[in-house]
Amino acid sequence: MNLKLLVTAGDGIGPEVTNEAVKVLEEVMALGGHTLALEHKRIGGIAITTDGTPLPADTLAAALASDAVFLGAVGGNEFNALPPDKRPEAGLLAIRSALGGFANLRPAFAFKELAVNSPLRSEIIDGADILFVRELLGGLYFGQPRQWDKAKGEAWNTMRYTRDQVIRIAFSLAQKRRKKLCSVDKANVLEVSQLWRATVIEVAAEFPDVQLEHQYVDAMAMHLMNRPRDFDVVLTENLFGDILSDESGVITGSLGMLPSATIGGKVNLYEPIHGSAPDIAGKGLANPIGAILTGALILRHTAGLEAEAAAIESSVRKVLERGFRTTDLARGNTQGLTVLSTTEMGAKVRETVKQLLAVSSQLLA
Ligand code: NAD
Repeated sequence: MNLKLLVTAGDGIGPEVTNEAVKVLEEVMALGGHTLALEHKRIGGIAITTDGTPLPADTLAAALASDAVFLGAVGGNEFNALPPDKRPEAGLLAIRSALGGFANLRPAFAFKELAVNSPLRSEIIDGADILFVRELLGGLYFGQPRQWDKAKGEAWNTMRYTRDQVIRIAFSLAQKRRKKLCSVDKANVLEVSQLWRATVIEVAAEFPDVQLEHQYVDAMAMHLMNRPRDFDVVLTENLFGDILSDESGVITGSLGMLPSATIGGKVNLYEPIHGSAPDIAGKGLANPIGAILTGALILRHTAGLEAEAAAIESSVRKVLERGFRTTDLARGNTQGLTVLSTTEMGAKVRETVKQLLAVSSQLLA
């Protein structure tokens, strides 16, 4: 396998966590006899400072010519006074829309060892493993017309959907997991949701092995906190998914743990869900696990290397089981825990994945 990856590390802790994730990817690809061709380009604040724009043309061209883009994070306090279209985040929105991915995959899972970091009781979250599949380019965020008529004191947005491709992607992902799909809508009130539900039911006929349920979004907000273990793939339109996936972040307990992928467009875009965390940048305090797990998603969804992706995920679990933590994960009673810096945590995961892959290749030999 030959993977051409563009890395846009961005700002703040972006370069710190991306660096660790890339080193894990390099290790895993080399061990499997695969080639990883890396290219690095600027995006966000660093690009504003150096190139005068948050998304330089050569970054976009390199992104469109790659198999996948790995984005760290963008943003910094020094850019906060700029107008929205000149800020680092404008670079992020521009690359997302140029790459055209419409299916945003966001896992929310519990690590037994991190239960103390979650506001939910461990007996509720233990074993929870949800994959949100959120439609990303439609709904209220993009629908026209939209306007704020200040003179009239009136504003409106439009929620509009055509029959959506994201639905088929969600079913095929459910087929590769625990074969359960929960579609979220508000079909008791919204015509858009009625179309959504009818389309989901129609597409479900192509996936008879996937068990389908429907939930209204308001009830779902409650079920996710009461019984997160009951859900496997959760399929939503844009706004509902934005809210529910953030809500479910509490299951994992730290922003620094969560990866994401945006697929279905010209080139897949992968990013940890956290921002550039200027408060801890440059101090070696950033948790690189969200970025490392983002690397696992690249292997799964772009490179088709499922065993290698799973090996990275198992390594993260093993490192946590052995009591290693970054500062954000070492809350409360830290007895028996070893607190590591960003690079030390990266090295621990690398060392563990190397051992795991060596064992599995011996078993196969
Ligand atoms: P943030 O995610 O950067 O940080 C929120 C809190 O979580 C901070 O206390 C931070 O220290 C902590 N945190 C985040 N990631 C961590 C990690 N890997 N390890 C340990 N702790 C971590 O969100 P924010 O503070 O609201 O935003 C900071 C900047 O990031 C802003 O400029 C914002 O616009 C930008 N941002 C970018 C993205 C992106 O690039 N995708 C996403 C969100 C925010």
